[in-house]
Amino acid sequence: MALTSPPSKVRGSMVPLRGMQLLCCAAVVGVGVHVGVGLGHRTDTARVAMGAFEATHQGESAVDAALQAAGAGLSEISVVVRRNDTLDQIFRRLELSLADLADIRALDAARQALDRLRPGDLLTFFTRGEQLVGLKRPLSLSQTLHVERNDTDQFVANVEEVPLQRKVVTTGGTIESTLIAAGNMAGMREVTSLELAEVFRWDVDFALDLRVDDSFTLVYEQLLRDGEVVADGNILAAEFINDGKRYRAVRYVNAAGKADFYTPAGVSLRKAFLKSPMQLSRISSVFNPRRKHPVLNTIRAHRGVDYAAPTGTPVRAAGAGRLEFRGVKGGFGNVIEIAHAGKVVTRYGHLSRFASGLATGSRVEQGQVIGYVGMTGLATGPHLHFEYIKRGVFIDPQKAMRRGEPGPPVPASERGAFDLQTAPLLAELNARQSATGAALVAR
Ligand SMILES: [Zn+2]
Repeated sequence: MALTSPPSKVRGSMVPLRGMQLLCCAAVVGVGVHVGVGLGHRTDTARVAMGAFEATHQGESAVDAALQAAGAGLSEISVVVRRNDTLDQIFRRLELSLADLADIRALDAARQALDRLRPGDLLTFFTRGEQLVGLKRPLSLSQTLHVERNDTDQFVANVEEVPLQRKVVTTGGTIESTLIAAGNMAGMREVTSLELAEVFRWDVDFALDLRVDDSFTLVYEQLLRDGEVVADGNILAAEFINDGKRYRAVRYVNAAGKADFYTPAGVSLRKAFLKSPMQLSRISSVFNPRRKHPVLNTIRAHRGVDYAAPTGTPVRAAGAGRLEFRGVKGGFGNVIEIAHAGKVVTRYGHLSRFASGLATGSRVEQGQVIGYVGMTGLATGPHLHFEYIKRGVFIDPQKAMRRGEPGPPVPASERGAFDLQTAPLLAELNARQSATGAALVAR
């Protein structure tokens, strides 16, 4: 019994998930690597890979079925991979034959799928007496490696594929304490709550602006395997009501295949500047042209905003630009200055240190970590002093950042496609709201 189709063929049709979802997979099963698109196609490929195992009944893995058929005397040992574990060490720990390990490693499919172990990965070994008769390892949400000792005492390996289904669900909630808590109540995974905050990051500062009784509605995908939810997929549409103000976003995949979030009118949610260069912090001192300086004790304009945060908290570039200055500047201590389009410069002072790999002239992306909070220069405690300077004039960053230029809208040539794609999503948001409204009236 030999397999003809290498697993790389199966895995070739996969595309990696976005960063947030990778985290999710890693957190949920410790092994999530790939989830694909084009589910129907993958089923076919998977069937080829199943090859000799095709005779087994549906919904049950080949090895499991074979092992069940082989009857009693079988032990199952589950191993969660520890830090710095190798397969050799695990085999030694379980007192399994290293000759068997060598045989398994000689199989292309198994070697590729077993080479890189990560802490938290799950391996299941099947033994009869002292003898290893099989092992399995989930490779991703939809793929599992099976190794089995066959009738002629040879190991064979295959990658089993159980395609994931996508289900669109609508949910919603009201903030009582945190966004994460409200998301949990609404059945969302934590990554999806964080993703929701990312969708609106140009309009709502979820650290500073969140209010009790803020509410959200969300249309998103759940990924199912065998009818069971194994991960959350993309957010498709979202509404966030912050302090009485309503924000809406719909996901649109453009003609080039790139996905982004827009208002229902097709305006990009992206802005030239983030709401805040800090992710989690509080404003300890606002822009004030006549402020008594806390250290010098004289009246001196405070031409920026102070964000109090522990030393070492990452500071993000408020917008894309070019690093213009990185060094010490009097009372500001360690300073970074970034030049942006439109003759705007942003300045970040009192940093404890700079992010590595940055030099004068470096290109900086919006949101990129450029340094870390500190209290170098004249400062009474660790904080970021942040300035927004346009054509040499200091502007209150809290006001300036709200006015940032939006990203490019949906082009006119794609408006038809945009409406077609987003109309059902908006209908879903609206339906949820009428349902909530009706429930409120009924109460
Ligand atoms: Zn300041």
